[in-house]
Amino acid sequence: MRKVLIALAGNQNSGKTTLFNRLTGSNQHVGNFPGVTVERKEGTIKSYKEATLVDLPGIYSLSPYTSEEVVTRDFILEGHPDVLINIVDATNIERNLYLSLQLLELEIPMVIALNMMDEVNASGNSIDVKKLSDKLGVPVVPISAGKNEGIFDLIDTLKKTVREIKPKQSDDEILKMPQFDFCSGEVHRAIHAIAHIVEDHARRLQYPLRFTATKLVEGDELIEQALALHQDDRDIIDKIVQSMEQALGLDREAALADMRYTYIEQLVKECVVKRNETLAHVRSEKLDRIFTHKYLGIPVFIMIMLAVFYLTFGPIGGTLKALMEEGVGYVIDALSAFLVSVGVSDWLHALIIDGICNGVGSVVSFLPLIVVLFFFLSLLEDSGYMARVAFVMDKALRKIGLSGKSFVPMLIGFGCSVPAIMSARTLSSERDRKMTIIVTPFMSCSAKLPIYGMITAAFFPEHTALVLIAVYGLGILVAIVSALLLKRTVFQGEPIPFVLELPNYRIPDARSVVLHMWEKAKDFLVRAFTIIFVASILIWFLQSFDFTLHMVADSGESMLAQLGTWLSHIFAPLGFEDWRASTALVTGITAKESVVSTLSVLTNATSDAGLSAALMNIFTPVSAFAYLCFTVLYMPCVAAFAATKRELGSMKEAMFTALFQTGAAYIVALIVYQLGTLLFM
Ligand code: GDP
Ligand code: MG
Repeated sequence: MRKVLIALAGNQNSGKTTLFNRLTGSNQHVGNFPGVTVERKEGTIKSYKEATLVDLPGIYSLSPYTSEEVVTRDFILEGHPDVLINIVDATNIERNLYLSLQLLELEIPMVIALNMMDEVNASGNSIDVKKLSDKLGVPVVPISAGKNEGIFDLIDTLKKTVREIKPKQSDDEILKMPQFDFCSGEVHRAIHAIAHIVEDHARRLQYPLRFTATKLVEGDELIEQALALHQDDRDIIDKIVQSMEQALGLDREAALADMRYTYIEQLVKECVVKRNETLAHVRSEKLDRIFTHKYLGIPVFIMIMLAVFYLTFGPIGGTLKALMEEGVGYVIDALSAFLVSVGVSDWLHALIIDGICNGVGSVVSFLPLIVVLFFFLSLLEDSGYMARVAFVMDKALRKIGLSGKSFVPMLIGFGCSVPAIMSARTLSSERDRKMTIIVTPFMSCSAKLPIYGMITAAFFPEHTALVLIAVYGLGILVAIVSALLLKRTVFQGEPIPFVLELPNYRIPDARSVVLHMWEKAKDFLVRAFTIIFVASILIWFLQSFDFTLHMVADSGESMLAQLGTWLSHIFAPLGFEDWRASTALVTGITAKESVVSTLSVLTNATSDAGLSAALMNIFTPVSAFAYLCFTVLYMPCVAAFAATKRELGSMKEAMFTALFQTGAAYIVALIVYQLGTLLFM
């Protein structure tokens, strides 16, 4: 038997993921930030095993303005879910119902989950759920996903709705369903007239008739194309729309929006008793007087980020990292002693200790930094602050040809470029989206932290914070310059205006913050024990043998040294003459942490102090800094490259992007090294 397919649709930030987790018992990431959920997620409802639940991207309408709206729409039109759950943020009911009205047109049995009722109740407001349900013609269940209230009622209602699924009604019946009573006047006439013209086409595609007709009134090109209408029919439809526009004095999209909002206004007047602004809202307005202040906004943001970096690398993260290093060193020593005591052969000992343990260990000791950084970032995100930053940065970003919405991917880019590149899907114009994908990897991802840690410990131990700020700043600066360059050349035109709704500030949920940290830690450890593990073995092998497969005494005679030496000619102008430096850059393409594990395997360093000493022979302070600059900017790891290719849609464009990034890295490192040598050497 086919499982019941239930789709969860709603506005961004309405609590969709929270509800999804409650219903399925899974642990998806929750954020008080529009645009966090990008991929579609699936799960089984806990006490309703016959049903599969799909969490769709958050959207505001069913018009094809963003690729997420298209994804959602296509899923509903082609995946034929049996039931829709429409989650509605009760504290923001007007805007949320705008989507509900459109979902109703899809002729799929629907249940409205009226979320955030805890906030509505706390502020002394109330909603007449029964009346709302009668008016809309679908069950409405008040819930609070965050507080785990009303979830059982919701599941019961779902079961009931599934049991009562009726065979499809006739087209005429559908057009006359009570929930469409709001549709009146000129628009109503246009929808009906067009419905009769396209009836057959819609049936052939299994598109809901009313939805199809409405989209044609709106002028939705994707639907127009899908229907493949005859030219005569198109002409008639154009006439109908034109006369509607004339009669109303509104253009087609505005006419529909106006009709929907007029109805919602009426509905809300009847069903919602709003005595007070919700407390959360009042509190948010107060906080926003500072955080989104015209002049203070950006300085406050910079101060907060500086504090975050200071705490991450200094008192908190730094201390934890030292502890971790000690622990890792202790484990390696113990293992080494054990291997000696059981008398393993020299080469196996070397492989395990010098190859694997040093490689993986050098990366693992950075775990505390990553976890601490993500602790702070998820606090900022979950509280709702990051949405303010996007708002504050919008103006600045528009000057360089990006939109405020580009800020979301760029911010996620500080964690990892892969989800960052995917989250660019929230951008509505192709131009803005592509530009954002190209510049996002310049935001230094967390896998690069170990590289910065390694270099600063060796060369700039007194100025760690300063160097880090310079490095992160460099990434941002190059992103800005690149955006300006792209805007003048490949991507001419203006960014699409940016509408971001500011969610109320909320106290971050401890469970969600811990979850986020755990996810990052897990990710990092998995990489360390898979990619880095394999890369370390490979590097150890390549540096222990020569091309005739004889073990070499000095790694300078190994095959890796040979390959690295060829490469180092390319990098010599940047000051990386040593073959080990250029080899590490290449292995860094598998994963950025690999730069560190490669260097520690190649220098045979058994401790961080040993690695620092070895690096002194490879770099001068100036070339070390140039090396840092190169690693911030050059092409991201293979996983991010694959994501770029997927999102840009072609290998050619992905290659262009990688070349562009690596070219930028080369030029910047060249300038830094040459200038630095002139000034300091
Ligand atoms: P999504 O963008 O629709 O997936 O929304 P999320 O599930 O990420 O939730 C957005 C924010 O709303 C998070 O900060 C949640 O903690 C919060 N939230 C979700 N449900 C509730 C609720 O019932 N009450 C309150 N007060 N907050 C909630
Ligand atoms: Mg979500």
